[in-house]
Amino acid sequence: MTVSDPNCLFCKIVAGQIPSKTVHEDDHVRAFHDINPWAPVHFLVVPKLHIPSMAHVGPEHAALMGHVMTLIPRLAAEQGCRPYPEGGFRIVANTGAEGGQEIHHLHFHVMGGPRPWLRG
Ligand code: AMP
Ligand code: ZN
Repeated sequence: MTVSDPNCLFCKIVAGQIPSKTVHEDDHVRAFHDINPWAPVHFLVVPKLHIPSMAHVGPEHAALMGHVMTLIPRLAAEQGCRPYPEGGFRIVANTGAEGGQEIHHLHFHVMGGPRPWLRG
């Protein structure tokens, strides 16, 4: 698997070649606001490594996936999602054509905030 794909939009955002509204950055991930939000809080958590989708995730990615999943609750709270159980958030990883994936660089949508939302 390539570390970075020069034709990939999210690789370019990760590299800072295309601007994004960054929520968080560390050695392994960048998180930024979705350009077309469905919910009052809607950001994407993107591993820096070019993994095309969840279908490509294997045991070698366990530490990275653990990092992403433990980071999301903290970022959701920082971005204004109210506490569980009244508040909360939704995590979505669209995978493949039938999973509704449009950008083929693994990303986790994190959505929250007061309803109704535009979608979902
Ligand atoms: P999907 O691949 O269907 O899970 O979703 C891709 C998401 O990326 C969509 O919600 C888009 O609104 C979002 N998106 C596309 N281009 C950008 C961009 N330049 N900056 C931030 N979000 C984007
Ligand atoms: Zn990529």
